[in-house]
Amino acid sequence: MDCPFCRIVTGDDTADELYRDEYAVAFRDINPQTPVHLLVIPRRHIASLAEVSDGEVHLLGHLQVIAAQLAEQLDLARDGYRCVINCGRHGGQTVHHFHLHLLAGRAMGWPPFPRS
Ligand code: 5GP
Ligand code: ZN
Repeated sequence: MDCPFCRIVTGDDTADELYRDEYAVAFRDINPQTPVHLLVIPRRHIASLAEVSDGEVHLLGHLQVIAAQLAEQLDLARDGYRCVINCGRHGGQTVHHFHLHLLAGRAMGWPPFPRS
């Protein structure tokens, strides 16, 4: 198994986990880009947003609700936060197991990429 997030799901690798249920896991990013940087992932291996279909509608909503609930629990909702899904090479995706980034703890710019 060469997927780092599948290894976290199975417990073969550890992560700083904040949430786990039958369908999803949330943990701190190993290389945080903001003071709070979490990843919310499906337990099932889905390579990217480009791979999803109608069958994943409920799962995708579930991941988003988990992010919102964690933001509330960590008192991030008052100042705000950002949820990001990177997809593919131009999207900056480096781990090919679907994940939702939850970024918070400082103001973030827009657009979220350097102008060239
Ligand atoms: P992407 O660039 O694919 O949208 O984001 C992948 C994220 O996963 C990166 O922010 C990276 O720091 C994080 N990451 C990669 N490998 C690991 C790991 O083994 N453990 C944790 N906690 N985060 C990881
Ligand atoms: Zn995986």
